[in-house]
Amino acid sequence: MKPEKKKKIVKTIRIDVDKCNGCRACEVVCSAFHAAPKYGNNNPGRARIRVIHEPLKNIFLPVYAGEYTAAECMGRDKYIIDGKEYDECAFCRASCPSREAFKEPDSELPLKCDMCESDPPLEKPLCVQWCLNDALVYEEREEEVDEEEEKPEDAELAVEALIDKYGFDKVSDVLARIAAAKAASKKA
Ligand code: SF4
Ligand code: SF4
Repeated sequence: MKPEKKKKIVKTIRIDVDKCNGCRACEVVCSAFHAAPKYGNNNPGRARIRVIHEPLKNIFLPVYAGEYTAAECMGRDKYIIDGKEYDECAFCRASCPSREAFKEPDSELPLKCDMCESDPPLEKPLCVQWCLNDALVYEEREEEVDEEEEKPEDAELAVEALIDKYGFDKVSDVLARIAAAKAASKKA
């Protein structure tokens, strides 16, 4: 039997590299929005967007954090833009073991752009709102997808990353301890 189809809103941000001047407002507001407490600090190391800079030609390229991957690539790509060769991982969106990008600086948990998920929802993602040069343009479209195409939630990806780093037994021990402590504090 064919899987049921359902409607899904696909959110995208179109990047116009020519309009980016490298102000990094997008990094600042993203990290502040995802700080705990919200807007409590603005460490761009925690942003889900990174602006790559090529100083000689003054090119800025915003890159969004994508999926977490437990293993690094077997092969790598090289990019040559305006005659300058870029680091082979520079434009990759993945949080992966081979580099520091798109990881929480303290915990090293993977970071992924969540389009500023919020309740109530924002009209536009904050990086788009803060980009005064219109280098980032928010777009939505509707697509039909199979029911089983649902992607794992961020929380699931974070636990998966912890298991990759510390092993299943250690993570499940810690979760069991936290659950027991929470249950005890509710009873008290
Ligand atoms: S806010 Fe806009 S112009 Fe500034 S760095 Fe980010 S994308 Fe570029
Ligand atoms: S859409 Fe939101 S979460 Fe994604 S990079 Fe922009 S500010 Fe960060």
